[in-house]
Amino acid sequence: MSNEDNQLRWRAAMMNNYGTPQLTLERGEGAVVWDADGNRYLDLLTGIAVNALGHAHPAVVEAVTTQISTIGHTSNLYINEPALKLAERLLDLSGVDGAGKVLFCNSGAEAVEAALKLTRRTGRTKVIATEGGFHGRTMGALALTGQAGKRTPFEPLVPGVEHIPFGDVAALEAAVDGDTAAFVVEPVQGENGVVVPPEGYLQAARAITAKHGALLVVDEVQTGIGRLGSWFGYQQAGIVPDVVTLAKGLGGGLPLGACIAMGEAAELFEPGQHGTTFGGNPVCCAAGLAVLGTIASDGLLEHVSGLGKEIAAGVERLDHPLIGGVRGSGLLIGILLRERVSAQVAAAAQRAGLLINPIQPDVIRLAPPLIFGNEQADEFLTALPGALDSTTTKDTD
Ligand code: PMP
Repeated sequence: MSNEDNQLRWRAAMMNNYGTPQLTLERGEGAVVWDADGNRYLDLLTGIAVNALGHAHPAVVEAVTTQISTIGHTSNLYINEPALKLAERLLDLSGVDGAGKVLFCNSGAEAVEAALKLTRRTGRTKVIATEGGFHGRTMGALALTGQAGKRTPFEPLVPGVEHIPFGDVAALEAAVDGDTAAFVVEPVQGENGVVVPPEGYLQAARAITAKHGALLVVDEVQTGIGRLGSWFGYQQAGIVPDVVTLAKGLGGGLPLGACIAMGEAAELFEPGQHGTTFGGNPVCCAAGLAVLGTIASDGLLEHVSGLGKEIAAGVERLDHPLIGGVRGSGLLIGILLRERVSAQVAAAAQRAGLLINPIQPDVIRLAPPLIFGNEQADEFLTALPGALDSTTTKDTD
């Protein structure tokens, strides 16, 4: 069926949650996808920062195929080797010498829900989060999300959450006190338009929360697993949080989330207090192991840091009148537009064979796979001006 036919079927059968999609993606290989009409696209969005190794990566295909034909699900009532290995590996990588514990789940929102429930175990209920921050759409995660448009239709949400400006150390200092259970923060606000906090922000957050005995929860759902050029975004600040949430890139395209609690926080849940049937599914965890293994064996962290800088510099060099700046870290990049035309730019880019994301009216988000090639970066930089020009032309018509 064509893209157009599928749109009609989609309208009839599926809930409209993000607006009507134009394309049906049928097949992918690396950073390239093909739609139902056979058109080819360079994928700079990768399932919203999910397909860390791109599409159909042989290591993920092999791991998933082997695992599903061995044992596909066990539940948490039994141990399975891929979950055990992945938990051990995550603890090694998170920089706490294994002094932590992992709870697996299936998505970012679920990882955040687990973290939020865990903060209640401190005996305190006040939680500080950031304006513009995004933590998911379930009721607890939504209570932490600092975007009014997403929250308002669903109030009342979980009480006790206070939002403060992102990146503002003084506001954090004023908000955190002896009643505060936790401060929840992203290293870079992805959904808010790739907003990078000032230097020293996470260090200050670590010091302030520690001073008041509050937990520091770092939401790495979008920034973790190599996206910023380090395993976890917080590592660039040289700190260790109490709780880390992960999802997106971790499963390389399979639904896999994790809540890592470190040090004393690792002991907060008592048996029976939290869980989910699919958490730690061996197929998803096998995919996760393939992702972590490939990032390490292929030197992808260095690649991401280097290529991210090159793409950002390349976009600046275009010196296009519509581009007002570039921000981000690693391969999470925001292109700032001087006008609120990101949807038109993304549509024009799509016609030119690029999948990019109009995350805010004046911001385009790029989150290509970590395996994105230098030639693919050139292809993007060559095609982007045409997409920007066609927007300008269309607007002045
Ligand atoms: N936290 C952050 C930082 C996110 O970026 C997202 C997803 N964009 C979530 C949580 C929610 O993840 P999910 O959509 O998998 O529930």
